[in-house]
Amino acid sequence: MSSQPKREVAPARKLAGTEMNDLIRNGATTYFHESGTCRMGKDSLAVVDPSLRVNGIRKLRIADSSIMPRIVSVATMATCVLIGERMAEILKAEA
Ligand SMILES: Cc1cc2nc3c(=O)[nH]c(=O)nc-3n(C[C@H](O)[C@H](O)[C@H](O)COP(=O)(O)OP(=O)(O)OC[C@H]3O[C@@H](n4cnc5c(N)ncnc54)[C@H](O)[C@@H]3O)c2cc1C
Repeated sequence: MSSQPKREVAPARKLAGTEMNDLIRNGATTYFHESGTCRMGKDSLAVVDPSLRVNGIRKLRIADSSIMPRIVSVATMATCVLIGERMAEILKAEA
């Protein structure tokens, strides 16, 4: 237990109500890895299907970080490259 934190460092004093809301609003950030907004799946809430076709719109596909069904627990760029590679494979197979 000696390795556990001894005291809270931030905020420097006890906050509540609006002050606590402001602290959270001002401190929250995206950390640059926005993803998963058009997730791939087979259910009715999915935006794209497993071939990355946008459900309900003909001839439109998405191949970027937005299709991630679950956000990866690493930086996202390498996964985006793989999504692009997979899209290329799908299109090549269909051509
Ligand atoms: C500051 C910062 C640092 C990052 N650092 C890292 C890192 O160190 N390692 C890592 O793995 N990931 C990092 N990332 C995340 C990584 O860059 C993204 O996850 C990745 O680039 C997302 O790829 P994407 O194809 O989904 O979107 P984007 O790379 O954003 O590509 C979207 C493209 O669409 C274009 N576009 C937008 N609107 C239109 C339109 N209407 N018509 C035509 N084109 C359009 C844009 O110009 C852009 O080229 C970082 C992100 C940021 C912002």
